[in-house]
Amino acid sequence: MMDTQLVLTGFLKRAARYFPNKQIISRTSPTTTHRITFKDYVKRTHRLADALAKLGMTRGTKVGTFAWNHHRHLEAYFAVPCSGAILHTINIRLAPEHIIYIINHAQDEILLIDGDLFPLVEPALSHLKTVKHIIIMSDDLAAPESSFTNVYSYEQLLEQADENFVFPDDLDENLQAGMCYTSATTGMPKGVVYTHRSIVLHSLALGLAESFALTERDVSLPIVPMFHVNAWGFPFAALNFGSNIVLPGPMVTPGIILDLIEQEKVTITAGVPTIWLGVLAEQEKHPRDLSSIRLVISGGSASPKGLIQAYNEKLGVPYVNAYGMTETSPLVSMSHPTSEMDNYSADELLDMRVTQGLTVSLIETEVVNENGPVPWDGETMGELRVRGPWIASSYYQDERSNEAFREGWLYTGDIAILTKEGYIKITDRTKDLIKSGGEWISSVDLENALMSHPAVFEAAVIAVPHPKWQERPLACVVLKEDASATKDELLSFIEQEVAKWWIPDDVVFLNEIPKTSVGKFLKAKLREDLKHYEIQ
Ligand code: ADP
Repeated sequence: MMDTQLVLTGFLKRAARYFPNKQIISRTSPTTTHRITFKDYVKRTHRLADALAKLGMTRGTKVGTFAWNHHRHLEAYFAVPCSGAILHTINIRLAPEHIIYIINHAQDEILLIDGDLFPLVEPALSHLKTVKHIIIMSDDLAAPESSFTNVYSYEQLLEQADENFVFPDDLDENLQAGMCYTSATTGMPKGVVYTHRSIVLHSLALGLAESFALTERDVSLPIVPMFHVNAWGFPFAALNFGSNIVLPGPMVTPGIILDLIEQEKVTITAGVPTIWLGVLAEQEKHPRDLSSIRLVISGGSASPKGLIQAYNEKLGVPYVNAYGMTETSPLVSMSHPTSEMDNYSADELLDMRVTQGLTVSLIETEVVNENGPVPWDGETMGELRVRGPWIASSYYQDERSNEAFREGWLYTGDIAILTKEGYIKITDRTKDLIKSGGEWISSVDLENALMSHPAVFEAAVIAVPHPKWQERPLACVVLKEDASATKDELLSFIEQEVAKWWIPDDVVFLNEIPKTSVGKFLKAKLREDLKHYEIQ
């Protein structure tokens, strides 16, 4: 067979050749929608590559982006790796010291920054050791005033660049193409490097029926940011498969998401469960036409049963859970029901939908404890480990790699069980485990049970110290607007769902659960806030 290389230039050629009229629709500001065809997009991508080359970008140069989801960001997604350089997408919501750390650690030489985000980065500029050029992405043809010398306007650079720029045709598939840092809750973020090969294979996997089944007929809307795990691969896959892509821009709200779905007839969308909770509440208040949607993908943290049920049954919108990490590109598994489940009862089916699902093709997973791989019995817990062609094999220049990457596997730090069907069900993260009297309690199951109560908006369960049991669960609950429920009501509500000794010892009512930069519950902060809490 021919040994052709799996490189991203192939995707760009395909987009221009077969899908010239497909569109990238960007919400560039709260009031503007920008549309560009794939044909014109590809031309601008060549111009960007030429402009970056003129600034000194060459093979191996790290180019950082600090940007929302929009067409210019997408231009960088291809212009940089197709030139043999490396695209480093920076999480704009990280703490300033983490942003400085990752730009210096990655050794970014050029930064592409959104105009409205530039004021966030400016105070950090004097701490950046390797950055030589800054390009501001906005409609303006003039660069903003800055104390930094080399600041350019993106549009002006493109105007002066050549659309006949030629990408190298000798890129090796194992060349580094992109990088993303994990949003660390402890210590500094850790870098993950994606290669052309890993991105190409991961993108193709998004076309599989067992995953997103992405095709030319789709209109995709990644709510997940392009600065976090490549918006779960949508930008690359949409160009390759010829799917229209809607990029929601800055400050996305549930109302904006629903409007975009209705206006653009979105067929497939993806985000974290907190987004879908907000969208559900908005849809219940001001319903929009959601008939175009064929799949809502939720991932990044566990989806409560009530949420899955509300989408599938009340809204009639298929809602499927997907599991992955920054280290896994991210897709590992998805909870589509199989034909084996055709005659499951509604309750049994919901029990499957709440899991992280079946491992996708080319990826291997195992759940292991001190006795080796656990049986498919729905109860034995162990740590989930993963391997495959789009799973990282180490962190980028980081001594902490040995903790997670061992014996050819990535140890995920997620505690899971396997159902009798072989579906992965995450019960906790190792660092969030609650160990009561030597036995593990699943905080995820407790949260799920609590969040199915009609008055509960969000719930997080954490371990608090206990004199007799070492640790006991404490429930932190946010009630829905205008709803009420007492501690006793909530605890007796979940009695049918979980073992009696799992029932939290107390419930604290909060206005909000603290969240990470990507919208996940920040349990470390809750534990810190409640560390002096005494169980009565
Ligand atoms: P971070 O940068 O916060 O590590 P990641 O997105 O890489 O962000 O987080 C990966 C983790 O998110 C996983 O290890 C797992 O704990 C959690 N996670 C991801 N998807 C799911 C899901 N569908 N259900 C439950 N937990 C999930």
